[in-house]
Amino acid sequence: MPNLKTTIVKRIDPLPTNVSPDALLRSLGIAQPGDIDIEAIAYYVGLRIKRRRLTSCEAMITGMGNKGIISVLPTSMPERQRFSIAHELGHWAHHRGQSVACRATEIGGFSKTNQGERAADQYAADLLMPWSMFKRECRKHPRLDLKALKVMAGSFNCSLTATLIRMIDSTLYPTAMMVQHRAVIGRKWFRGAVQVPGYWFPKDALDSESFAFELLHNSTVRDEGFPRKIGADAWFDNRAAERYEITEQSFRVPGEGVVTILLLHPDMIE
Ligand SMILES: [Zn+2]
Repeated sequence: MPNLKTTIVKRIDPLPTNVSPDALLRSLGIAQPGDIDIEAIAYYVGLRIKRRRLTSCEAMITGMGNKGIISVLPTSMPERQRFSIAHELGHWAHHRGQSVACRATEIGGFSKTNQGERAADQYAADLLMPWSMFKRECRKHPRLDLKALKVMAGSFNCSLTATLIRMIDSTLYPTAMMVQHRAVIGRKWFRGAVQVPGYWFPKDALDSESFAFELLHNSTVRDEGFPRKIGADAWFDNRAAERYEITEQSFRVPGEGVVTILLLHPDMIE
């Protein structure tokens, strides 16, 4: 005679509480980036999506037992909404039973100070851009430039910024770094490939010689169509910088300023 209580519990909650993104994708048989339907995945783990106006946050999750609702702002870009939903799924996996409201600055920024938000971002990236598929697609693009980034972002249906972070983290582009600037506050943040030594720390303010400076301060200038060479001292204070030439390519992100892809000289990472 089976234990009835156990059977019922299993039927109500067929998934373990903390199911990894890889396990989730495997159990749904998803093997192509185009098949990562985030709303279907949310439904599968007991969550409904509501698009509604929210005050003071961009997305939130409220849950009880095995069911919950993810609310997301309908006015964000579709790629951004996808990332926000995946981020809330991360909270569901890591912090089930809690209600969490996330401000725009807490989603996609990979916070260095808030572990919970960083874990939710990591979960979102792992779910929307799983390494096995992501690296396979990256290998079609030996060079990280804006053209490759746009193709990758399109394949995975993610924003340019979220995709660029993932490409930097892939370890496949050892000389790559991204720097994001806002006009008012100067350097916002940067992220380098794990192979880039910590002493290559970008300057706070943009050098007026860099194309990113023009892009940030002159709204009539268009994004750079191709990477171009510039002295490394335009980007780094380090005294050794004047010995090297690097490439830069910048583009605008609406509402977020200017993002620049830097490719360091190979000797800079040795
Ligand atoms: Zn959050």
